[in-house]
Amino acid sequence: MDNRTEDKGKKDIVSLSYEELIFEMKEIGEKPFRGKQIYGWLHEKLADDFSKMTNISKTLQERLDASYEIRKVSVAARQISKKDTTEKFLFELCDGCMIESVLMRYDYGNSVCISSQAGCRMGCRFCASTIGGLKRNLAPSEMLGQIYRIQKLTGERVSNVVVMGMGEPLDNYDNFLKFVTMLSDEHGLHISQRNITASTCGIVPNIRRLAQEGLQITLALSLHAPNQEKRKELMPVADKYELSEVMAACDYYFEKTGRRPTFEYSLVKGVNDGAEDAKELTSLLLGRNCHLNLIPVNPVKERNFERPDRKNALAFKNKLEKNGINVTIRRERGSDIDGACGQLRRRYADI
Ligand code: SAH
Repeated sequence: MDNRTEDKGKKDIVSLSYEELIFEMKEIGEKPFRGKQIYGWLHEKLADDFSKMTNISKTLQERLDASYEIRKVSVAARQISKKDTTEKFLFELCDGCMIESVLMRYDYGNSVCISSQAGCRMGCRFCASTIGGLKRNLAPSEMLGQIYRIQKLTGERVSNVVVMGMGEPLDNYDNFLKFVTMLSDEHGLHISQRNITASTCGIVPNIRRLAQEGLQITLALSLHAPNQEKRKELMPVADKYELSEVMAACDYYFEKTGRRPTFEYSLVKGVNDGAEDAKELTSLLLGRNCHLNLIPVNPVKERNFERPDRKNALAFKNKLEKNGINVTIRRERGSDIDGACGQLRRRYADI
């Protein structure tokens, strides 16, 4: 992706990795340690203006300002859930695109759910993020920026990151990969890769590619159906990649990284929550070292999918558990502010 904005022709400096920034500074005739200092300002101290970089000379600050930009991820709205302490942030990007992120406070620390694209083109039937299609990919700086902005706004440290907001990370592969590398870089926030999870609808070649990158992030696979036929009804991506290929790619990810994958399964009343579904799902997952997360489907006003009632969801879970599947029902967070899975969208008119 082109990291220059059209109007000003300034380079997106926050998307440059540690090595790239040091190289860049050398290129403009500065000492490499300047690159190190600037990287620290951008990714550790989270500076959003060159003028705040106090150990950098005024001349260099001005020089940087003329050729580079610190892309804005500005908060347009902030909502806090009344049910729990989950907060949702609506952010505006430099070109007016709107994206959403969610902050969840847990006993073990703060987890942020970020968007990887403005909109989405995967078309999952039950998901709000896909309504209106894909606007554009996010740059690494815009994925990082969501976390940086939330840390700055709340004054609280973020310890876990899930790429489960709007968009499909493996449909924005290069930027996503760079984002992971930079987020876990010791010169930045240094969030452990084991505390980063990326969720995909199942783009098989890119799951295989990711498996070979030498990363330690957790892969979450959006399964949502126990067989190919049902999956096709819910997820257009299944037309392209057969369920058997998706499962083989997940096995390969585990084999290469040693990281146990998570399977996500949105429970939809009358669609994939029956006894037969539980049985089929059991045989699909049995013998695999994995975790299954059940998510009673969250309401999206344009869609008429319903969630099973609590009793049925529990019965579904128990059937799997009895057969030896490692399963949980995901704790619902922020549903009253449309901050739960599948509720994030490119909104702004109706907030
Ligand atoms: N594109 C990625 C990540 C985004 S969605 C992916 O498909 O995995 C994060 C998770 O929420 C996915 O498992 C997605 O299928 C699920 N989801 C989407 N809409 C939902 C809804 N209405 N209710 C519950 N989960 C939903």
